[in-house]
Amino acid sequence: MSEDGPEPAAAATTPYLPLFLRASGKKAAVVGGSVVAARRVETLARAGALVSVYAPNLDEEEFAPLGERFAFTHVAREPTRDDLAGCLVCYVATGDNAADERLHAALAGAGPPISVADRPDLSDFISPSILDRSPLVVAVSTGGASPMLGRMLRARLETLIPAAYGGLAAFAGRMRAQINDKLRSPVARRRFWERVLDGPIAELALARNEPAAVAALAEALDRAAEGGEGPSLGEVYLVGAGPGDADLLTFRALRLLQKADVVLYDRLVDPSIVDLARREAERIYVGKRRADHTLPQEEISDLLVRLAREGKRVLRLKGGDPFIFGRGGEEIEKLAEHGIPFQVCPGVTAATACAAYAGIPLTHRDHAQACVFVTGHGRDGPLDLDWETLIRPGQTVAIYMGLDRLEELTQAFVARGAEPALPAAIIDNGARVNQRVVVGTLADLAAKARAANLRGPTIVIVGTVVSLRDKLNWYAPERAAQGPRDLPPAEGAQ
Ligand code: SAH
Repeated sequence: MSEDGPEPAAAATTPYLPLFLRASGKKAAVVGGSVVAARRVETLARAGALVSVYAPNLDEEEFAPLGERFAFTHVAREPTRDDLAGCLVCYVATGDNAADERLHAALAGAGPPISVADRPDLSDFISPSILDRSPLVVAVSTGGASPMLGRMLRARLETLIPAAYGGLAAFAGRMRAQINDKLRSPVARRRFWERVLDGPIAELALARNEPAAVAALAEALDRAAEGGEGPSLGEVYLVGAGPGDADLLTFRALRLLQKADVVLYDRLVDPSIVDLARREAERIYVGKRRADHTLPQEEISDLLVRLAREGKRVLRLKGGDPFIFGRGGEEIEKLAEHGIPFQVCPGVTAATACAAYAGIPLTHRDHAQACVFVTGHGRDGPLDLDWETLIRPGQTVAIYMGLDRLEELTQAFVARGAEPALPAAIIDNGARVNQRVVVGTLADLAAKARAANLRGPTIVIVGTVVSLRDKLNWYAPERAAQGPRDLPPAEGAQ
């Protein structure tokens, strides 16, 4: 059994290339007069395309008002292959599935990429849901899997991104040449932009006080060009990544991930979280298994110092919470010694995540007034735990890194006086889609866990709170939704 568990599954990929095509002044074809066709005409016309609609009839209700706002040409017949020559794209949306298929077959390969309504299988491209704050545009795609979900996400973004952001984007666009001219280094430029877009200048632009925004920006730009705010020293963010699911990250962790120049991560951090870093950010794997540290702690600390000295924003990503059995404190001691600025961002630690996702409250008025977090992984020798404290009634014990020594641990509880019938549970891959929970007592948990062939990472919870799971168990990840990391259902696993 390996406590660290199998490799995380590779991040999912999409066969679609996300991009924004320049359509202004280009020819484009829409085939069909349906409601969907009208939407396509509108999207194309908004982008300034020269749209021809090929359809014997147009949906009056949709097309009449469209014609008042946008220019397009109606050709009252089906298109020929020649009609498509020189077109940027072609949408097929007659509203009749059989006709769409026939037209697709007739037109495929004539030139432009073709998109057939509701037929990703026939389409060269698909249309995202659009949040339009022009020039700021957010496009959401589910890869054709669920356009409805895409529309729901778009609606959420709608509430997140104020309408005034369009004005801010336009302002940034107008200032761009001036800034590129004065600040030559890409790093200086990025920092400058971050300060602008995150600070008072953006507030002025959002409030549509353009003269004040332009003046403030000019002043800040002069200062930056003189190196006034050129940061020579970087900084370090020690960030908790939570138990695995990116959904359990904090907003701050996400924001820092988007800011960092370098991300150092280890084995327990899911790739989907590392993916949230800026695309250009350098990613350094400093993986850590218990017996085989890829980079010794000392070297990680040195690396953090060195990268920060190069002026970088360094993000050290740790599983769970960085200050709980994560040696996060040790890693940043050296930073403090060298006077390098750092901040610590907490994460959801494995014990609380596992407890929540297994339906086992760590404290409960009728069961436990205290909760102790311990590590079951002694430094080689016998387990060096304060048993007096651990076997006290009225408390819950959460054990990190306890899988390898589960037998020894549960026996020790009993040997020191705990009831063999005391409920205990082990949660494997807690809060992830492949979570498994084995419930038993101090007497039989180790045997059950062995039978279930758990691989870790795991948290062991000891205490009568475990009995609450019968009522409170809510998390049952669909087996169908699970990836290749799945283990077959095993006896004893729930
Ligand atoms: N700083 C981390 C703990 C690091 S020690 C935190 O706060 O969670 C690594 C141990 O954490 C693992 O051996 C295991 O005991 C536990 N662990 C981490 N992720 C886990 C998960 N998703 N499910 C169960 N246990 C987990």
